[in-house]
Amino acid sequence: GIADLEPVVSDSLLALIGLIAADPRTDKIDVGVGVFRDGAGTTPIPASVKEAERRLVANQETKAYLGGWGDRGFTAALRPIVLGGHAGDARIAGVQTPGGCGALFLATRLIKLARPEARVLVGTPTWPNHPPLLKGAGLETVEYRHYDFEARRIDFEALRRAAEQANVGDVLLLHGCCHNPTGADLGEEQWREVAAIASERRLTPLIDLAYQGFGRGLDEDAYGVRVMLDACDEVLIAQSCDKNFGVYRDRVGSMWLKTGSEQATANAMAHVLQIAREAWSMPPDHGAATARIVLEDSGLRQQWLGEVAAMRDRINAVRRRIADSDPRLAYIANEFGMFSMMPLSKAQVVGLREKHGIYMADSGRFNVVGMADADIDRFCAAVVEALDG
Ligand code: PMP
Repeated sequence: GIADLEPVVSDSLLALIGLIAADPRTDKIDVGVGVFRDGAGTTPIPASVKEAERRLVANQETKAYLGGWGDRGFTAALRPIVLGGHAGDARIAGVQTPGGCGALFLATRLIKLARPEARVLVGTPTWPNHPPLLKGAGLETVEYRHYDFEARRIDFEALRRAAEQANVGDVLLLHGCCHNPTGADLGEEQWREVAAIASERRLTPLIDLAYQGFGRGLDEDAYGVRVMLDACDEVLIAQSCDKNFGVYRDRVGSMWLKTGSEQATANAMAHVLQIAREAWSMPPDHGAATARIVLEDSGLRQQWLGEVAAMRDRINAVRRRIADSDPRLAYIANEFGMFSMMPLSKAQVVGLREKHGIYMADSGRFNVVGMADADIDRFCAAVVEALDG
């Protein structure tokens, strides 16, 4: 019965939040958390988003149901940002979702419905919520090594081999940009190579695009999405606006599907809407309506593009500072997005917590922009001390 359920094995990142809260030191550094922080160490609401929210609250006349697609203006405005030159392809449809998680939920359930035998190829390590999401959908997974911890770069051979050995109809789960937790992204040539294999072996890419704009640029970060759309007839994209609009708790995202025909896409999307109906019925409106207002107003849109660029610039500037602090950390400048992994053992990670109040995940994953500018030197010195010790 319910009273007899086994305790949940808690996500070690959630346990970390408890440890940080319990630490009375005032100079602790939290690089465990997964949100962007600015130079002052805060996670502000972008000014463009704040202004759009003001307009939304002032002008909204009803909160009557919108239906399962959510805000159609939101997905229409997002379409060229995600799809680029493929925006006009009528075989691609998108639906608003509660964040990237909601999009992954729909994509994985759709795969299970359409091809229950399909296996999902997952590079390790990956975002810790990927495996439970796939398991929850009842999909079998095949793991390969995404990251070479010795060389501190992507293990592209392992990805190539896994893709070449996959069955027709298997799914390739790929991080579109800013890989979480390693920061090790595919290069453009590597994307083209994987796309060619996916096309030849008729694999379905499922691209998790949670940090568009945080790596190289808004368009540059969608390179993999665009190449897969060039090469493959069947593509799934799980997109999140939670980070690039700074609206994490408002749950804003979208799921995109391409099939070989407009009619097949329409039919599949009817199933997707049924899956959503059973889970959340309709996506929450506020954050998506806010993002729509930003994107539809040329002034707010320009402002938002600048704010995304500022977030990206801080990420890359802090990366360079950490990389410059010690040759053993130089690889961090070649990685992208908010996360990379420190070459530290769990004992060294725990030592940083106890001695310096620096909190990162047991794995050594840390948020590059978790610390304020004023804390960067102290952070680097403590990590280098741990590496030497
Ligand atoms: N995919 C990856 C790789 C992520 O890191 C995250 C958020 N941590 C998500 C998806 C989900 O984001 P959201 O909060 O929009 O559900």
